[in-house]
Amino acid sequence: MSSCARILVVGGGITSAATVSLLAETIPQESLTVWDKARGAGGRMSTSRSTGNPQCKVDLGAQYVSASSESQVLHKDMYNQLLSAGVLTQLDSQGIEGFRSEDPRVLHYTAPNGMSTIVKHFFQRSGAQVHFNQRIVELSKSGNKWKVVSEKGLEEEFETVVLTMPVPQILELGGDIAELLKEDASVLNGLKSVRYSSRFVLGLFFDENVNLSVEWTSKYINKHPIFRFISIDNLKRGDEQGPTSVLVHSSVPFGVQNIDVNPEQLKDKLINSLFELFPMWPKPASVKCMKWKYSQVSSFYPGNPGSVVISRNPNLILAGDAFSSSSNFEGCLNSASSVANIISKHAKQEL
Ligand code: FAD
Repeated sequence: MSSCARILVVGGGITSAATVSLLAETIPQESLTVWDKARGAGGRMSTSRSTGNPQCKVDLGAQYVSASSESQVLHKDMYNQLLSAGVLTQLDSQGIEGFRSEDPRVLHYTAPNGMSTIVKHFFQRSGAQVHFNQRIVELSKSGNKWKVVSEKGLEEEFETVVLTMPVPQILELGGDIAELLKEDASVLNGLKSVRYSSRFVLGLFFDENVNLSVEWTSKYINKHPIFRFISIDNLKRGDEQGPTSVLVHSSVPFGVQNIDVNPEQLKDKLINSLFELFPMWPKPASVKCMKWKYSQVSSFYPGNPGSVVISRNPNLILAGDAFSSSSNFEGCLNSASSVANIISKHAKQEL
């Protein structure tokens, strides 16, 4: 791979952002491009803002970052960057009812401006060209390049493509990639064995600071037919004076039972059930309801390799939490490091 070979990373989540940030240490920024189908950065680390008050925001997916002692050593530079930029600060885990943290060496962090700022930080640092509203639908070989086609008809060629979307979305892609996977039974069976949990989400925006009179910032709920986790999001982020927002995650069994149901159909039921638990709460200014069809990985790609190379020259690499051993920030950093090592090694061999 020549030093000006183009690299496309598909996905606007943390695996993609950490990958381009690591690659930018050795590869010119102009060579790095990112496409995501969504309107903005974050993926499953997304933060939603109220239309009535953009300062009122809520983390819809990942809630906090837990760094094991191994990860603190392996990814020291990345944690230091995030901490010194104020993107991460220490989480007040005392305020989380039912918080399970057996190992005192694990450090827990919150993102004061929302989890998506972690992803945005790495994209910004990388200098990569990041394009949203670009859903890729087809990947086909064109000589020693991959021709990538988006739903909107955009077509571009890259020497290397890295796919970081959830595995079922990789398996939906058309073009030569589908043929390539059919020819490699071991990889195809590995991909088909990956499983995700599903969850529904409510985000309540109060748009101003209100006192919800609870004694916790977040709480894991046991044995409720619908809910598993609830958080006063501004308090979790350490913003006591800011506009109040609340995040609610359904339990996994509820998500699985209703996996094919449109979230809009369940919105009223979820809101009513929440207000049965908290009848004294005021009415929020607006409520967002959504479904994470692919929430956290429950069954990983066999062997937890970090990433899988399915083609060389042109290069095609699969990455993301599914290829790691933990479905969280740390797992994604491990996957990103694995991709960056493969690409850097390949670039050196070609020199
Ligand atoms: P994603 O974030 O899923 O990014 C993939 C991107 O690919 C998406 O942005 C998507 O839009 C894009 N995409 C998909 N298909 C296409 C296509 N065809 N073309 C272009 N783009 C495409 N982790 C923690 O560390 N702590 C937590 O507290 C935590 N809690 C969680 C709670 C929930 C409800 C969920 C859903 C996840 C949670 N996680 C948590 C897990 C964490 O969010 C994920 O491990 C991580 O965000 C995965 O990042 P990723 O970049 O690998 O994938």
